[in-house]
Amino acid sequence: MSAISYELLNSGEVSELLARRPVALLPLGAVENHGEHLPLATDNLLADGVARQVAARVPDSVVLPPLPYGQVWSTSAYAGTISLTLETFVGVLYEIGASLFAQGVPLLAFVNGHMGNLDAMKLAARRLHDEHGMKVLSLTYPGIGEISRAVLEEERIHPSYFHACELETSYMLHLAPEHVRIELARANRPTLPPDIDVSPTPWHTFSPDSPVLGDPTLATAEKGRAIIDVAVARIVELIEGARAAQQSERT
Ligand SMILES: [Zn+2]
Repeated sequence: MSAISYELLNSGEVSELLARRPVALLPLGAVENHGEHLPLATDNLLADGVARQVAARVPDSVVLPPLPYGQVWSTSAYAGTISLTLETFVGVLYEIGASLFAQGVPLLAFVNGHMGNLDAMKLAARRLHDEHGMKVLSLTYPGIGEISRAVLEEERIHPSYFHACELETSYMLHLAPEHVRIELARANRPTLPPDIDVSPTPWHTFSPDSPVLGDPTLATAEKGRAIIDVAVARIVELIEGARAAQQSERT
């Protein structure tokens, strides 16, 4: 089964799809500086790649056009980064969800590749729940803790931040290798301020020359595949669970 792209369907095809009450997957990323070896669209390419692998395994699912802009605060001082405000981004996510719900889509999954989008996804999902009773799943590489610890060689600079490092560059070598310029990859291991988790800290204040957090030269496609496979399997499981619960409510 290959993934269906929502925007390529014609009138008859989309009507047929909607009649089957599909799950819609919305890839979310950002336009954000990822150092010299990865493009600004890295998070978009990854989110779309993950969503397509999920859709290939979930019957009656469809991949929406990726939303290429997200909320980017930490890296906003580096060249190229573009950001939406929280209010705008929540509004866009909410309105896409509400439109789909009105079209008969009962289940929406945000397949996210950018950590800065977490707050907006949560707020939009709550609003869709409260105002429409719509089921929304917010999915940012779920279930990868154990496999990443087993596969990655370098010690993480921060327990939850990753950026253009061994992890994210491995994802790119697996999902979008044609956009990686690995010969330009350089390690960057800045010292993070001790209060980074409890106070707003733009990254250029501790790493003025590069937003890379770690050593991308350790990245391989095999590491990326091992971790992405686990995330995809977990997303499939979560979607199937949510769908089964919805179906039993309806009968
Ligand atoms: Zn990224």
